[in-house]
Order: sequence, then structure tokens, then C-alpha cells
Amino acid sequence: MASESAREPLANLNGTLMPLSEVRISPLDRGFLFGDAIYEVLRVYGGKPWLEEEHWHRLKRSLEAIRLGSIDLERLRRRMHETLKASTFQEAIVYLQITRGAAPRSHPFPTGATPLELLWVQDYHDAYAAVRQTGVQVLTAPDVRWERCDIKSTNLLPNVLAMQAAKEAGCHEAVLYLADGTLTEGTHSNLFGVREGTVLTAPSTNLILPGITRGLIIQLSQRCGIPVTVESLNRAELGDVSELFLSGTTTEVLPVICVDGHLIGNGTPGPVTKRLQQAYREAVVGRS
Ligand code: PLP
Repeated sequence: MASESAREPLANLNGTLMPLSEVRISPLDRGFLFGDAIYEVLRVYGGKPWLEEEHWHRLKRSLEAIRLGSIDLERLRRRMHETLKASTFQEAIVYLQITRGAAPRSHPFPTGATPLELLWVQDYHDAYAAVRQTGVQVLTAPDVRWERCDIKSTNLLPNVLAMQAAKEAGCHEAVLYLADGTLTEGTHSNLFGVREGTVLTAPSTNLILPGITRGLIIQLSQRCGIPVTVESLNRAELGDVSELFLSGTTTEVLPVICVDGHLIGNGTPGPVTKRLQQAYREAVVGRS
């Protein structure tokens, strides 16, 4: 019998349902040639997309930022729900990508190209369950990305290279820093610190992705009576924080216990992080 994780992802390409392995995309697609594309990732718990409005809002923002604001988002959203329903997946991920479409290779926007609207739903086995209890090690790496990291663009080469370096060093994530030591975010997560009981998070500027999970964590902290300060951490000041954690759609709330070989706090997940993990779980379970 096929295991749960072996079920094939179900895709929707411009409105047509098909197994993901049957999707065919032109080599002239601008997403492929130029990274002229944006994407979004949603977590599905119990068959329902989590924080759907927030993800949809960010998708719209990304599309407008790359001047693809004419995409019919309500139609795309209906497709997402149809695909999810047809998949019957309960614990899943939805991946959506919109490109400027296929056209003879030339940098300016093509005239008359039809944007490619691809999404798929894949079964999800929570790979982070164990490390959420123990915490993870990370390394720091220079942030060599562009100045529009607030756009969820598919141009992820700096993230890929930094993450590979982390993996090769036995770490779970690379946390990126600017020339002055300012820590921005992870390659696929946002970064939080805890100093004297206060949660610290980098400002939502062009230098980080406005993480949907980050937004939720700010709300959950406030609901739990934990103060939040919008302030970037600096690589040189990591000794001053008692806790550090990462956030993301699949990551959820992930304690960081060691950075570049130096322990954070006493080297175990701290009480504020654990409280927020609990609040996150309660929010998922308790949603209407
Ligand atoms: N920062 C970056 C660079 C990311 O790629 C991601 C998610 O993939 C995040 C932060 C976390 O964002 P979210 O909580 O919306 O998943």
C-alpha cells in the first residue's frame, strides 16, 4: 500500500487539474529564464488553508510590486480551493507561482504574453516536529540579496547558497547579516530574539520578507502579555539575548539554541519560545 507521503501532488496549471508530474512549462517562460515570477506557500491544517487572507494579501502585494497586478486573484483562489478539495489532502502545503509567461527571450516585459498561473497541493509530513522540541543550530552568513527582499520573488539563489552552506555545516538554517552586523532573517524564515523577557523582531522593511507567521507571532505575544519590540538584532550582540527562534509557514516556531557554535542562553529552548509554540498550537487547534 502506498504510504501517505507517497501520494502525488495535485497541480492546477492555468485552470486545468493534473498530477504535478504532468505539468509542462515552456523553456521560454520568464519565470525560468529571468526569475520574473513571484510565489506563495500556505500551510493546510485539517484540510483548511491557514492564515489564508494574510497569504492572499501578500500575494497581491508581490504581484503589484512586479507589475503583474492584473491577475484575477479571486479566480486563482477558487482554483486553489478546487484543487485542495480534489486532492483530499488534510495536512498539506499549497505552493502558488505566477510568472510573466512565455515569450521570446528579451528583458523588457513582453506584449501579449499570458501570465502562467501554477499551483499545487502536496501532502505534508511535519519534518520539524522533533527539532521544535530540541531546538536547532544555525550559522550566520552575509546577506548578499537585493534591496526588495519584501517581495516574495522566486529569485532565491543567495538563499539557496547560504542554506546549502548551513546544511554542510550541520545547521538547520543560515541567518543572514548585513555589512554592519544587522541580522535580517533566515534563508526561509524570520528571526526573533528574547531579551529581558521582551520579544525582538526586525522591522518590516524592504530588507526582510514580511512573514505571515511573524505577523501571527507578534499578535500571539501581545495576547500572551509578552512585550514585543521592533528592533533588529546584531550579530555582535547575540550574547545579550536569552532566547532566539525562527518562524515560518512550515517552520512554525523553531527554537535556535546555538549560533556559529555559541550557545544561546543555556542552550535549550527557552520559556518565551515554548510559550509561543504553545500559543501557536492553540491558535491552529482553536480556529473556527
Ligand atoms: N523570510 C524568508 C526569506 C522566507 O522565504 C520565508 C518563508 O519562506 C519567511 C521569511 C517566513 O515567511 P512565512 O511566515 O510567511 O512563511
